[in-house]
Amino acid sequence: MALRTILEFPDPRLRTRAHPVTRFDADLQRVIDDMLETMYAAPGIGLAATQVDVHRRLIVIDVSADNTEPFIIVNPEILSRDGEIATEEGCLSVPGYYDEVKRAARIRVRAQDRDGNVFERDCEDLLAVCVQHEMDHIDGKLFVDYLSSLKRERVRKKLEKERKERAARSSSPRERRSAL
Ligand code: ZN
Repeated sequence: MALRTILEFPDPRLRTRAHPVTRFDADLQRVIDDMLETMYAAPGIGLAATQVDVHRRLIVIDVSADNTEPFIIVNPEILSRDGEIATEEGCLSVPGYYDEVKRAARIRVRAQDRDGNVFERDCEDLLAVCVQHEMDHIDGKLFVDYLSSLKRERVRKKLEKERKERAARSSSPRERRSAL
């Protein structure tokens, strides 16, 4: 396994619409294992392939407290949505920034697992938020798109400034909270 570099906003590659996964081969297994390792190391609770510059419809999630419940979602579609939940979201591609986003509180998802088996699963609360957040990524969308353009521009400038400072200092401590 290997850690992959996570693309950061406003990298234009994050705007790519990912292609469906058609081959459940050794290459796909390697990408999935790398994504899990990268997500756990970040640390984060969700990661879409788009974020590591792999433009396939593939997502890994683990919302358990002890990183023991990896949830791998390939070619997902949302069958139904219900309710509304407002959560303060973060994103590994928008490091250090959190803001409230409204999403469906409960969703039913149909997807394939890492071997290509089709399954359906009901997701609620944090898991539902996470799945919707990651599904946005594979369509080239980021959670900052739900904010006002003024706010988004402020985030972009803040990240740009931090990147420059990081480059100057070579390392900087980062807030440790759950990011998707
Ligand atoms: Zn994200």
